[in-house]
Amino acid sequence: MAAGNETSPVVTRFAPSPTGFLHIGGARTALFNYLFAKANGGKFLLRIEDTDRARSTDAAIAAILDGLDWLNLDADEPPVMQFERAPRHAEVANQLLANGHAYKCFATAEELETMRAEQRAAKLPMRYDGRWRERSPDEAPAGAPFVIRLRAPKEGSVTIQDRVQGAVTVANAELDDMVLLRSDGTPTYMLAVVVDDHDMGVTYVIRGDDHLNNAFRQLALIRAMGWPEPVYAHVPLIHGSDGAKLSKRHGALGVDAYRDELGMLPEAVENYLLRLGWGHGDEEFIDRSRAIELFDLSGVGRGPARFDTKKLESVNGHYLRLADDARLVGLVTPRINALLGRDIDARETGLLSALMHDLKPRAKDLNELAAATLFLFRSRPLAMDERATKLLEAAPDNILDAARMTLGQVAEWSAENLEVAVKGLAEARAIGLGKVAQPLRAAVTGTNVSPGLFEVLAVLGREETLGRIDDALRPQKNEGPAA
Ligand code: GLU
Repeated sequence: MAAGNETSPVVTRFAPSPTGFLHIGGARTALFNYLFAKANGGKFLLRIEDTDRARSTDAAIAAILDGLDWLNLDADEPPVMQFERAPRHAEVANQLLANGHAYKCFATAEELETMRAEQRAAKLPMRYDGRWRERSPDEAPAGAPFVIRLRAPKEGSVTIQDRVQGAVTVANAELDDMVLLRSDGTPTYMLAVVVDDHDMGVTYVIRGDDHLNNAFRQLALIRAMGWPEPVYAHVPLIHGSDGAKLSKRHGALGVDAYRDELGMLPEAVENYLLRLGWGHGDEEFIDRSRAIELFDLSGVGRGPARFDTKKLESVNGHYLRLADDARLVGLVTPRINALLGRDIDARETGLLSALMHDLKPRAKDLNELAAATLFLFRSRPLAMDERATKLLEAAPDNILDAARMTLGQVAEWSAENLEVAVKGLAEARAIGLGKVAQPLRAAVTGTNVSPGLFEVLAVLGREETLGRIDDALRPQKNEGPAA
């Protein structure tokens, strides 16, 4: 179905378990839920599934919220904290108990262990055998602990019309009577998810296909309550470029690492994640508004998507070129400060701003961008890197002296005038422009790559440019204080 054509009201949710950072797969799930909601005039909700008290941490909650915020995936309502809702979960379990859709199971841990050992020995699937399904609680010793189990259908089968996976059928005989409420009164994850999705009014469950099996159990519970069934869309997980499930080794980092360590722009990560598992023809660069126009579940592929860091870098390069110069100056300045070990001042920020337009097309991430600006801030005499040294050595005789003279005579220090002057010199010497420009670039930047040479000279200014050339002409002075 095309974007915007869903018939029922669309309410989606992202339901991360805060046991670690927001990883790239989770970010993609959040993005798909967000876009699907927005494409259909619906709502996107957030639920923090913090019921696993041993593994959930406040730091992980903060990292998830921070990651979503960076990616601009704002939920339409404040996040629902699952653990706080435990009394409501217990209420539903007790309601099912009262209407006969659930029952108390008094089987002890040892008993269940024996049951499983026997099943294992007989090579049978390990499932709860329903030993308390038909028994009366009166048969249990007084005060004995119990769990509440769902009385799931035993006959027939369930088919889910999954929007990504297609029709998937499971025989009810394969599903046992799952625990809803533990003996300490705490809800299981299955119960909590179903109750929360219902209470939040979720109509579309879009999540990783590692949850497809859970959907059958969750559906049994939904039907026992007589609640409306959501539409399911189980999205294939992301794999590494070698086809194995994505792990740290493949660059499966937290979203924060893409921002902080790799220097990616959020819109680039978003575009990359969107195209990872979803497509619209050959369209490669799809920004937020276009994505909202186009996103649909039929465009989600059934095969696992492969994560490709090189591709992400090229998408990032694209968005760097499009990004506003002032924004990039803000983003790159802390990185420059870290590289220099000091904070650049207002004058230097001015240099950076003046050159940003020419600097940004050359970088694929903010780290490269920062590194490429350093020549602006280094103090004289500049250290020459190997390639710059080679260029200076290979320069035609006296060409740098001649360039120094020519530039010294330029009256108004502008990129255009500097270009005219240097071109004139190359012509007078009957040599290619590069023969002058390359040693000049080496002398003023200490390296062999930079934005347009004349922009660089213009931004550095007359005094600094001529000073840097003088240093390169008299390298012996670089060795220590002048005698
Ligand atoms: N909390 C689950 C997870 O992080 C998601 C549950 C769901 O989406 O239904 O994998």
